Amino acid sequence: MAKLTPWESQLINVKNTCDLMGLEPAVYEVISHPKAILEVALPLKMDDGTVKTFTGVRIHHNDARGPTKGGIRYHPHLDMDTEMALAAWMTWKNAVANLPYGGAKGGINCDPKILSMGELERLTRMYASSIAHFVGVDLDIPAPDVGTNAQIMAWFVDEYYKLLGRITPGVITAKPISLGGSLGRSTATGRGCYFVTIEASKVYDIPIKGSKVAIQGFGNVAKSAAFNFHNAGAKIVAVSDSRGGVYNKEGINPYKLKDYKDKNGKVSGYPGCKEIGSIGPLTAECDILVPAALQNALTGENAGDVKAKLIIEGANGPTLPEADKIMEGKGIIVVPDICANAGGVTVSYFEWVQNRQGYYWTEDEVDQRLERVMKKAFKDLKEQSDKYDVPLRTGAYALAIGRVAEAMRFLGRI
Ligand code: GLU
Repeated sequence: MAKLTPWESQLINVKNTCDLMGLEPAVYEVISHPKAILEVALPLKMDDGTVKTFTGVRIHHNDARGPTKGGIRYHPHLDMDTEMALAAWMTWKNAVANLPYGGAKGGINCDPKILSMGELERLTRMYASSIAHFVGVDLDIPAPDVGTNAQIMAWFVDEYYKLLGRITPGVITAKPISLGGSLGRSTATGRGCYFVTIEASKVYDIPIKGSKVAIQGFGNVAKSAAFNFHNAGAKIVAVSDSRGGVYNKEGINPYKLKDYKDKNGKVSGYPGCKEIGSIGPLTAECDILVPAALQNALTGENAGDVKAKLIIEGANGPTLPEADKIMEGKGIIVVPDICANAGGVTVSYFEWVQNRQGYYWTEDEVDQRLERVMKKAFKDLKEQSDKYDVPLRTGAYALAIGRVAEAMRFLGRI
């Protein structure tokens, strides 16, 4: 079977859900097309004096519920199909968390790991000025994603301020704290994964304390998730990054692993562990699996070997529809990305609110509000999955598409 692209796999979930809900055909007709796509050429003067052209993209998927919102990804294999899927997933994620936003995504097909700091800054500034008319505090609000961080947001916002001639920090989120960033934003996605796991663990009777957790990835989301599970008494048995993976059935201390990775640039070689490769955690012996790397990790080929009882999707789109079917057959519970990893954009929303008010919250206030949003999102999607007697993913899509469709009807767009 030909491998589905991320956009195709997203569309299958959307179409099946529209049919299940018996929605008017106009809903699918609108949401199966991104609203607007901007592609820009970014000819970057490299440190060695040559010029290399990168492609920058920003996609607005749907803005019925509010300004569009979503991250900026820097990755060497970024293509338009993946960007479109990522933008659509943001529409659904924002609707599941009930944030007043539509969905967007953007990125540059570059490898940030091999660019110098100077190249990265010039590329980011060029991207910001090229898409400035396409973003805005009431139009489209970017944030980090894979391969980008608070420093990149800072360069972006500085370029934007210069063009606009005004300081509007709410145009981009996950900024450094000193530029109007929110406390708790950098760890929010992993923290959110943990909050939804608390709810799921009660419903499905899979206690977190004493459980074995495998995590694919050791970037921003994975690290914060690992710390949260470890602090709650779970054992982190497997972790990986793009260069390899490690397993120890007695548990790995994620704080020590972070120190090791900071020093060595990889998790591989961490003492006392078996080497299992980058995708090893997906099929490792565990109770809870957190795929927190990239899309299309769980496929028809490896889903049959998954040992976890509960999957918390930290990444966007880690599971292909064919893998969903196999895992459903095995009774594995999957808390889908559009709920499980909504913690990041939720605190992005808090940051945007704080920027607009010019009044800043304590870390505790952020954390309590995040907990409320995540637990409510899980409860709302569980209600939909019970109503239609479908897996959690379809319940989440039903919740999201129902909310977006309602907004589109009020606006008279369908
Ligand atoms: N890139 C993150 C995501 O996929 C965060 C987006 C945001 O904060 O706008 O959810």
